[in-house]
Amino acid sequence: MTAQVYGGRPAPRAAAPRRGMMGALPVRGRHTHVGAPTMPFARRITRFGFVNGYLVEEPDGLTLIDTMVSGSAPRIRTAAAALGRPIVRILLTHAHGDHAGSLDAVHADWPEAEVCISARDARLLRRDLGTEPGEPPDARIRGSLPGARTEPARLLEDGDRIGSLEVIASPGHTPGHVAFLDTRDRALYCGDAYTTFGGVATTAHSNWLFPLAVMATWHRSTALASARRLRDLDPALLAPGHGRPRERPAPAMDRAIARGA
Ligand SMILES: [Zn+2]
Repeated sequence: MTAQVYGGRPAPRAAAPRRGMMGALPVRGRHTHVGAPTMPFARRITRFGFVNGYLVEEPDGLTLIDTMVSGSAPRIRTAAAALGRPIVRILLTHAHGDHAGSLDAVHADWPEAEVCISARDARLLRRDLGTEPGEPPDARIRGSLPGARTEPARLLEDGDRIGSLEVIASPGHTPGHVAFLDTRDRALYCGDAYTTFGGVATTAHSNWLFPLAVMATWHRSTALASARRLRDLDPALLAPGHGRPRERPAPAMDRAIARGA
């Protein structure tokens, strides 16, 4: 859909070279930090060096993927202002506090933005920790779940299209975890299905370099199955919730899956 709109060009709007998102680094072309992976449609926002949100460009504005920890709204506001466009959608990969923590504050800044999360993790956002029929008996809700007052406007299902993004159900880290595949450039916003902090890893297998996401995982064998599903999409870029985006990630994803198997 949007590929035609853009006519194959990498950016929806011509723009003069900008300063980097934090005003520190010059950018080479649009949205490209020197030495960082090419993300023609997205900007990464980082806190503490390892908690990420992403602003994805769409013809009608910006889609925010994950709101990061509480207190991140000013950083998100600054990043959106640097792009000169409103946030029109807020997508959550899952309900953990380091992804949904600033939902209420960001939604207060952009009350018209459509808030989207899976139905299963919307329950966690309401701090409803009950199980659902058919869930593995050895699964356990873990991790920080501060909840949010904001009611999601749309409950995401596998295969849904949100602008240029396709919703990929990827349960395991949480029961309703989803990833988003940008159909324009095959960037995969994978939430906590993979982390890259300290190396590409699934959250199905102990990772001493970045144990937090693994410790918060609901059901590891389900997480591993989802990691395989995401690998099978053959993404051009892996953009995780924690760690730097990785270009051509397939070999590293294969190794991560093999470690988790
Ligand atoms: Zn998480």
